[in-house]
Amino acid sequence: MQDFFNNKSIFNEALKWAVAEENSVEVVIKREDLLHHEVSGNKFRKLKYNLLKAKADGYNTLLTFGGAFSNHLAATAAAGFLFGFKTIGVIRGDELAFDFAQTLGQNPTLRLAHHYGMQFKFVSRTLYRLKNSANFSANLHTEFGTFYELPEGGTNDLAIKGCEEILKPQDDAFDYICLAVGTGGTISGIINASQKHQKVLGFPALKGNFLTSEIKNMIKPKVNWQLINDYNFGGYAKVSKELITFINEFKTETNIPLDAVYTGKMMFGLADLIRKGSFKKGSKILVIHTGGLQGNNGMNVFLKKKYNIEIR
Ligand SMILES: *Cc1c(COP(=O)(O)O)cnc(C)c1O
Repeated sequence: MQDFFNNKSIFNEALKWAVAEENSVEVVIKREDLLHHEVSGNKFRKLKYNLLKAKADGYNTLLTFGGAFSNHLAATAAAGFLFGFKTIGVIRGDELAFDFAQTLGQNPTLRLAHHYGMQFKFVSRTLYRLKNSANFSANLHTEFGTFYELPEGGTNDLAIKGCEEILKPQDDAFDYICLAVGTGGTISGIINASQKHQKVLGFPALKGNFLTSEIKNMIKPKVNWQLINDYNFGGYAKVSKELITFINEFKTETNIPLDAVYTGKMMFGLADLIRKGSFKKGSKILVIHTGGLQGNNGMNVFLKKKYNIEIR
C-alpha cells in the first residue's frame, strides 16, 4: 500500500489550447486523473494517509458516505478492494434500495462500487442529513461493528495532508494554480503547499457562500487564494448543453477528457476569464485535473435522456 501511494511521477502536460495562445498565457495541466484508473485524481491523495492510518491502527473495514454518483465512493470501494478492506457505503436516497438490480443497471458508479465488494446502506435524504449526529453514528456501529470512518467527500486533516503532495517543487514556477472545489479539502492542501508569489483560484462546483469560511478553518493562515463562484452552472451536478459542448470541444482540441461536475466547469470558467483578459500576458497557469471521469458514465445516462447528447 505504501508503494502504491508513494507514486512520485509528475504528469504535467503543456496545453495546446487556442484560448491560451490567442491571449498569450501559458497553461499547463497536472494530470492527477492519470494517477490510477479507479483511485483517481484528488481522491487518491485524500485516501492516502487515511488508509495508511486505518491499516496501521488495525481496522479491516472502511465506512463512508456519498451520493449515488460520488467519485469518493467509487475510489473508496476500489482502494478498499486493492488493500483488503471491507467497504461500506452509506448512500443518500432510500428509493435506490427499492429495486437494487435496476439501480445497479442504471448507475455505473454504484455498479463499480458493488463490483469491488462495497456493501450499501441506503438511507432517506432526511436521515442522510443527520449523518454526522452521535445517534446516527451509534446506530451504524451497532449495525456494522468497528470501522474506520471517512467523511462524505473524504475531507479531513489527513486528506488535506495528502493533497499538499499534489504540488511539487517544480510547480513553484507558476503564477496561478486553478482547481475545482467541492468540500474544499483539496484546495486547502494546495493553498498550504503553495508559495506566497502564487495565487490559488478555486472554482466551486456548488452554490453557497459557506465554503470560504470552511476553507479558512482548514488552512494555514494564508491569503493568496480566491474562490470564483461564477461557474457553478446552477449548483452541484447541474449542467447545461453549453457546458457539455465545451467539454467535448476541449477534448477534440487537446485530447484531454474533463468531467461534467468539477473539472469541466473549472476549465469553462478559466477559458472565460482568459478571454476577458483577467490574466496579464505571459502569465503561467497551472491547472489541476482532479479526475472524476468515472462520473461521466452516470452523467451520460441522464444527458442522453434529457438532451439527447453525451460526453464523448
Ligand atoms: C471530489 C472532487 C473534487 C472536489 O474536491 P474537494 O476536496 O471536495 O473540494 C474536485 N474534482 C473532482 C474531479 C472530484 O472528484
